[in-house]
Amino acid sequence: MHPQLTTYITLISTSGVLNLFLCLYVFLKRHNYTDIAKFFVFYTASITIYCFASAFGLLAENLGQMKFWTIIQYIGMPVSSPLGLLFVLHYLGINVTRKKCLALLAIPVASFIMVATNSFHHLHYRIFEVDPVLGAPYIYQEIGVWYAVHGIFTFGCMFFAFLLMLFQWRETAKAYRPQLIALLFGQFVPITTAFLYLIGATPAGIDPVPMILWLSSLLYLWAISTSRLFTLMPIAKDAIFNSINDGVIVLDESHRLIEFNQASKNNFPKLNKTMFGRNFHEVWIELSGNLFPLKLDAASSQEVKLTASQSEKIYQVRISSLENSKGLLIILTDISEVKRLQLKLEHQAYYDELTQIYNRRAFLRQAEADYGAAKKNTSPFTVLLIDIDHFKRVNDTYGHDVGDQVLVHVAKFFKAQLKEGAVFARYGGEEFVVALDGRTEKEAEELANGLRRDLALHPLVAEEKMISVTLSMGVAETKEEAGETLSQLLNKADKALYAAKQEGRDRVCVYVGSRETVN
Ligand code: GH3
Ligand code: MG
Ligand code: MG
Repeated sequence: MHPQLTTYITLISTSGVLNLFLCLYVFLKRHNYTDIAKFFVFYTASITIYCFASAFGLLAENLGQMKFWTIIQYIGMPVSSPLGLLFVLHYLGINVTRKKCLALLAIPVASFIMVATNSFHHLHYRIFEVDPVLGAPYIYQEIGVWYAVHGIFTFGCMFFAFLLMLFQWRETAKAYRPQLIALLFGQFVPITTAFLYLIGATPAGIDPVPMILWLSSLLYLWAISTSRLFTLMPIAKDAIFNSINDGVIVLDESHRLIEFNQASKNNFPKLNKTMFGRNFHEVWIELSGNLFPLKLDAASSQEVKLTASQSEKIYQVRISSLENSKGLLIILTDISEVKRLQLKLEHQAYYDELTQIYNRRAFLRQAEADYGAAKKNTSPFTVLLIDIDHFKRVNDTYGHDVGDQVLVHVAKFFKAQLKEGAVFARYGGEEFVVALDGRTEKEAEELANGLRRDLALHPLVAEEKMISVTLSMGVAETKEEAGETLSQLLNKADKALYAAKQEGRDRVCVYVGSRETVN
């Protein structure tokens, strides 16, 4: 055998062994590693196939063997560069969908098929023969159309991966730079060798790339062991910026738009990069149709209602200053759902579910405030307790559902009749309460009687029946006695209500000292 061939085979085998070692090493430790390790395993596996097939190819003694080993090489070689690119993309935090991954592997699969079936169409190699001067295993080849496609794709993937890493250099923290250097040179070595091969600067008839791949493998090995590639990985700042759920908008010191993330774009689809450099106030008007509601000052924060992407949303807008520059960060947090829940909870806490009027808790809160104010102003303050007469009978006769409808009917009726200054609520069961600010017991009694008579004229129509109920009411007005509480006043009204029931129902009783008058 030609002594040079021995050197080539030794070099190529070294590359193969080192790649096989890397592949197995990372595969066995994959559980301790980040997700990108799997791309590295496939990448090194494909290179291993490429290297060993090249080494065996150099032992070929005739054209048949040379063709066979070339086909085996093509199982690994075409797929290695897109796999290398996928590995680099994931390393840099650029997510690639499954579909795109598979699309990237389409050309390598086609290349393999082209080489395996080349003798039928000669699209990959126009001529593939034993070199007439050097003999086997040296190849004399003339490339076909598909070879060019395959070459451009392979070269393109490696070059793209290399450029991506190069552009990431400035963004990468010092601690991660050794990893990046290793990966950069890991790509650079085959790129330059492939380039030299393509321009014919390497020994004729032999692919030199697998001869130098051991160098890339050593660099990867170093990156894995010393700079902890796969356990410590930088995440591209861009990826972080765009994965924040809050909209983030960056302004320079003159309040011009200089950056925004994906979430702000989702909130304001009109936002686009052509707006960079424009005054933020102008941009905001274009986006929302309104003036920006906050002063562009650091550390201000406000809730803002906006109609963006056709639905009304509530945002917490916060402004903070950028470190090391006079720029500003505007952070928009969508709190619509939180607000909606908050309102719903508030409603549930203060409104009666059936009648949708105030519940007892809301009544006490509101009436306490009004009562306090009335006491201060020494203005009259009256409460009215209302109880539906024989309500049990309604339930028993028509059913609980109709009973519910009666409660809603009575609540609606009172709500419609009562004017401002009255706090009306469901006090419990079939009892209601009204606090009348600024009314004397006489006025309250008149009002109560009016309501009682009116309700009798407006029965509920349900299930084709007129269901009419009567009311008993107790009225009590606060007197000048010092320190009477709302609860004491309600107690008095309750006593008056009890008297109304005692005296035959369907009437209003006013609490007067220890005795009540009936009307
Ligand atoms: P009285 O004239 O003495 O007030 O007689 P009443 O039957 O109205 O008195 P009572 O307080 O004994 O009965 C009130 C009834 O109201 C008992 C309860 O089943 C019914 N009730 C309480 N809350 C509801 C409700 O939300 N829906 C319905 N349908 N019934 C209710
Ligand atoms: Mg009752
Ligand atoms: Mg009752």
